[in-house]
Amino acid sequence: MSLQNIKRDYDVIIIGSGPAGFTSSMYLARAGYKVAVITGEIKGGEITNSLEVENFPAFPEAISGFDLMAKMEQQALKFKVTMINGIVKDVDFDDFFTKKIILENGEELIATAVVIATGSSPRRLGIPNEQQYIGRGISYCATCDGFFYKDKNVAIVGGGNTAIYEALYLSNMAKTVHIIHRNATFNRVENILIERLYTLSNVKIHTLSQLEELKTDNGTLTGVKIKQKVTGETETLDVDGLFVAIGQVPNTLFLRGKIYMDEAGNIIRNPDTSATNVEGVFACGDVAHKYRQLVVAAGYGAIAALDAEHYLRKLEAQIARQKQINS
Ligand code: NAP
Repeated sequence: MSLQNIKRDYDVIIIGSGPAGFTSSMYLARAGYKVAVITGEIKGGEITNSLEVENFPAFPEAISGFDLMAKMEQQALKFKVTMINGIVKDVDFDDFFTKKIILENGEELIATAVVIATGSSPRRLGIPNEQQYIGRGISYCATCDGFFYKDKNVAIVGGGNTAIYEALYLSNMAKTVHIIHRNATFNRVENILIERLYTLSNVKIHTLSQLEELKTDNGTLTGVKIKQKVTGETETLDVDGLFVAIGQVPNTLFLRGKIYMDEAGNIIRNPDTSATNVEGVFACGDVAHKYRQLVVAAGYGAIAALDAEHYLRKLEAQIARQKQINS
């Protein structure tokens, strides 16, 4: 038996088409492997919603997230990566040689190795009526929906880089932008962003404040009630839009019980490599690394590709050795 004799559709299937997935696919296909990327719901991933990426190396003039990912896809296609538009519903890693990926449309694909690069999605606030008002006042993406709030009042919940980027973006079009942050300081935010934020006259910052309640009228969001955590005072901000930017949760629900994860759903990998507890399954990008940055995801995508390549070579060598012993 050789790896060539084992029935499989691809040497490696990469689940996810963000910077980690595309980079991984490009490396593996360039190394001569038969590779497929299962794109997920949004080809290119979450970053395609960013209008301007100004910290990815080699783009001094900045580039839109959409254009950056289109370039990454183009580069992967150049090395003959197969793009499969689909969403993974389930996986079966029980058979050592044939790892099965099951898509939502029922299609089943088999590979010798798998790279998980499914990224993360915006965390929900978990307050009453949140779900109901998504798209009717509540948004998780200022660059997608900011346009609808031209000359209106909006609020952003969160105090990380994303919240501040969104505030800077919205301040160009909205009348007033309220930032509701549960902490006293913006200790997670890059200084350059804070400096820009403090130059804006239409941004109002509410620190140590918690969003308590949505105010609505006839199915429309009209405001938010916030509570100052120290004084206990409450205030209603009249806003037409609420942007939630309170971090991300890893897209790993379909992997529950199949692979080791922590309580939050982050994949636990070998600290020095991208290897998971399942042999031949590797993880990279936001699902497996705390530094959720494009360049980090791309870098770890390359590491996962090198780890997968090493695994495939070792497997091939083991099979060849076994064949020799048997003959
Ligand atoms: P983040 O850094 O995890 O920040 C999340 C923010 O939301 C924190 O301020 C947190 O408050 C707050 N928060 C969390 N749960 C909350 C809740 N239930 N209610 C109210 N507030 C809550 O997430 P992020 O801003 O999305 O950034 C994610 C990663 O992407 C980070 O590594 C960030 O640096 C990176 N990023 C980079 C750029 C860039 O271009 N450089 C742009 C965007 C994002 P506490 O501070 O109190 O915990």
